[in-house]
Amino acid sequence: MTPEELQRYSRQIILPGFGAEGQERLRAARVLIIGAGGLGSPAAIYLAAAGVGRLGMVEFDTVERHNLHRQILHSDAAVGRPKLESAEARLREVNPHVHFAGHAVRLTAENARDIFEEYDIVLDGSDNFATRYLVNDAAVLCRKPLVYGAIFQFEGQIALFAPHLGGPCYRCLFPEPPPPGAVPSCAEAGVFGALAGAVGSLQALLAVRQLAGIAEPPLGHLTRFDAVRWRTTRFTVPKDRNCALCGDTPSIKDLHPARYAPVVCAAPVPEQTDGMSSADEEEPPVEITAEAARSRLAAKEPPVLLDVREHFEVDIGAINGHRHIPLRQLPAKYGTLPRNRPLIVYCHHGMRSLRAAEFLRSKGYTRAQSLAGGIDRWSLEIDPSVPRY
Ligand SMILES: [Zn+2]
Repeated sequence: MTPEELQRYSRQIILPGFGAEGQERLRAARVLIIGAGGLGSPAAIYLAAAGVGRLGMVEFDTVERHNLHRQILHSDAAVGRPKLESAEARLREVNPHVHFAGHAVRLTAENARDIFEEYDIVLDGSDNFATRYLVNDAAVLCRKPLVYGAIFQFEGQIALFAPHLGGPCYRCLFPEPPPPGAVPSCAEAGVFGALAGAVGSLQALLAVRQLAGIAEPPLGHLTRFDAVRWRTTRFTVPKDRNCALCGDTPSIKDLHPARYAPVVCAAPVPEQTDGMSSADEEEPPVEITAEAARSRLAAKEPPVLLDVREHFEVDIGAINGHRHIPLRQLPAKYGTLPRNRPLIVYCHHGMRSLRAAEFLRSKGYTRAQSLAGGIDRWSLEIDPSVPRY
């Protein structure tokens, strides 16, 4: 290292367990970031500043004004320009020693493995399920550690996936993408800018920690951060021996384009938590009053409203914004309900919905609540335009 480099990195070199050796490892390292977006932006800046030798980025999009509140690599002046150009210019300012490698392509089943082979570790900054599954599958097939990060509205998730080191992969948690339309996209649901900064920075931290050899990799966990409830939950994620990708007898042995049909951007939540953190997840009462439900439903992030009555009852009148699954169909269809949002269930008088809420709780929807008194009470107390019957 030159005196200039020693000076630049001195404050991390003096860290216990890091040293000049860790710095040399970083300089020899090749890191690939998928996307120069909300997660890729802070991750790239910290990785460049830390002195990663080669920093690759896959990105084909251009900078748009509505990106700027979270994609901090890009400036207002860059609107309309390719994100890769903007990223390279900014990263060169941060650290001219880093070799930047732009891949101006859409990541596909055809090109993913060739690109991944050039790197030591991959950071996923993608914002849709199709790419997320493609990135996971390519990383597992190429035996590259994957630093997973995802954000949705006020919630962030982070994990290190590396089946070749003994940990799980993303498919061990979520074997298949959710059905199209089951979860809204970021464009519809919104995303909190500083949360992208926090999760992207943690991804950079995980990568540096791994590359510099500071500590054992935190395999087998997924950490979720809820920026509204101000709570971190750590889920235990064991490797699934039946995983179609990294299990004992995998059925996914190559990347087939048909497997990565575009879906959406939200982050599903696993059901199982550590013993430590499950006690931390409080459950709301199983019933909710009409007045409390009204204010919850008027909030910026309303719960899912589920009507479990029969079709003929819904035809008489319903509460605006409801989803309809008759109670008897719930055991077959509950999987289409989003797991990462609270649920308010209602029926005519609150009996069927109470059963539905208890059933949903037994399936891991721990925040499901039943509207006490049903739509009848709603009509009496909240909205007289809903017909009583
Ligand atoms: Zn797996």
